[in-house]
Parts: sequence; structure tokens; C-alpha cells
Amino acid sequence: MATEPSDACMLTEGEEIIFDDGNLGHNEQLVLTNRRLIFLRERAKGLFATTYEKTDELPIQDIESARSDPKERSIVLQFKNGEKDVIGLVVTSGAEDWILGTRLDTLYTRLQAKIDRWVNEINRLASGTRRLPDMIYCKYCGAKNKSTNMKCEHCGALMS
Ligand SMILES: [Zn+2]
Repeated sequence: MATEPSDACMLTEGEEIIFDDGNLGHNEQLVLTNRRLIFLRERAKGLFATTYEKTDELPIQDIESARSDPKERSIVLQFKNGEKDVIGLVVTSGAEDWILGTRLDTLYTRLQAKIDRWVNEINRLASGTRRLPDMIYCKYCGAKNKSTNMKCEHCGALMS
């Protein structure tokens, strides 16, 4: 099954798909890029590819941290604004699982491993976008300065 996001979900410049194997059930798919979590809904199943439309997105920069909830088989997102979101992934099985008769608990173990992989990556990305140094403004020229600056980068006035 191809999970190539359609042009309904254009990636921005420098944006890369990291994982596209998040199955949400009900023909919905979750994609992780280096900037966003993108929720896709199956629009049409073609002969060679399935096209998707974007239903929602969550910017990584809004996410404080992620953790896995093994009981619910879900990704729990903690946002910087204090809100929480729970994204449940569903078990998927391929043709080889039907042929080999893969046990359900094996499929669940595989799903948990996938969730852990997603959680680790979301945390890695979220910590990478974590706070830049606080900015202050020069009282003489108004230029933006890092709060650690002793002197204004623009006019050289003392920042204290
Ligand atoms: Zn200044």
C-alpha cells in the first residue's frame, strides 16, 4: 500500500517525511515530518497509489514532549500551552502475516515498537525546536538582543 501524501498536503521547503506508517484506522493515516504531524484521510484508492487529503496538522514547535501509553497503544502529546492530545494507532498486518499466521500479540508488540519509535523521534524533534534564548530590547535603539548580551549588538549601549 502506497502512503505517498498527495499534493493536497504540500511539504514546505526543507520539510522531510520521517515516518509515514502511522495507521489510525478508518482509512486515516498519520505522517511525521521534521516540522509537523499530519493527519491524512484516504480520498481515492487508485490502481497504483492511494491519494490522501489532509484533515489536520500539529506543528512540532507546539509540542513540549511525547510519551507512549502502552495500555491504550497510543502516543500522548503534551503541548506547550498545557493541552494534551492522545493519538491511538491501530494494528496493521501485511499479507505475510496472513500466510504465516502471525499471532495477534506479535502484531501488538510490533505496534508498541512502532509507537516507541514515533515517540522518540517526536521528542528528538521537539527538543530541537525548544526555546531560543530569551530576547530583550535595547532601551536606546530598540534593537532585539539576546538576554545574555552585556552590550547592544546594534548600538553598543550597555544593556543593564
Ligand atoms: Zn541599541
